[in-house]
Amino acid sequence: MATPTVTDNGQTVAGSGRQARPVIVIDRVVKTYAMGDLAVHALRGVSMVVEQGDFIAIMGASGSGKTTLMNIIGCLDAPTRGRYLLDGVNVSTLVESQIATVRNRKIGFVFQSFNLIPRTTTVANVELPMVYAGIRKPERRRRALAALEMVGLGDRLSHVPSELSGGQQQRVAVARAIATEPALILADEPTGNLDSQSTREVMEMFSALNAQGRTVVLITHEDEVADYAKRVVRLMDGEIVSDRSQRPRSGTAIRHRHDPDSSSGDLP
Ligand code: ADP
Ligand code: MG
Repeated sequence: MATPTVTDNGQTVAGSGRQARPVIVIDRVVKTYAMGDLAVHALRGVSMVVEQGDFIAIMGASGSGKTTLMNIIGCLDAPTRGRYLLDGVNVSTLVESQIATVRNRKIGFVFQSFNLIPRTTTVANVELPMVYAGIRKPERRRRALAALEMVGLGDRLSHVPSELSGGQQQRVAVARAIATEPALILADEPTGNLDSQSTREVMEMFSALNAQGRTVVLITHEDEVADYAKRVVRLMDGEIVSDRSQRPRSGTAIRHRHDPDSSSGDLP
């Protein structure tokens, strides 16, 4: 993944491309929701820096502020106070249309419920966001095939979601997220609907993507999922109560299975 030499706000980044530049800077972020007369303090001054290539699991009990933090990181919501920089850009200085562009270009979202289009092939599902991004068809196809190969589904191009297992569907969703080459993969409970075998399959894939240099931030409340991360951030009552690096459970490389029964790589 190429590191741009100039950020969107015009700052020049030193030439080697190897210099660590934080993908995310969250600086004393407060989020307060007004509930009638009541103020709900969802985030009470959260600060964290995510470097390129990091793999972070955000954990915490229900109501601790995980989704609020993810919504801010994903530019779906704005902090009440504090600063948020995504890939060097202060998101709060942007207008909504610019924020939408930043969201499309810099973040690949993965959701608990896959959000694939039914009765639509794997390859078409992966191409869809690139249609909106105005990428031409041959380039869309090239990137979709590369992304699907990367998640080990190069032999499932013509399948529709109902013909895939849960783990495979989530891997299609991840291929869709990475096809636009975002700076950040943001996943909200990506294994929440998966059995343990599919959970392993999906987490090994996140590990492999991270090993290739992609930055991953995911929410989970499962320890087995957090074990794959390089760093675990715990929230409690809107505050970070611990932020630890760990030796990740090493994901095995993605197996590129070419089952004898599969329709090998035929295109729709
Ligand atoms: P988590 O994802 O860890 O379960 P959330 O970020 O969803 O936690 O919520 C943190 C706190 O903020 C909770 O007390 C929740 O009730 C409150 N909250 C979240 N969203 C809203 C909202 N839109 N309006 C009012 N309160 C909210
Ligand atoms: Mg939540």
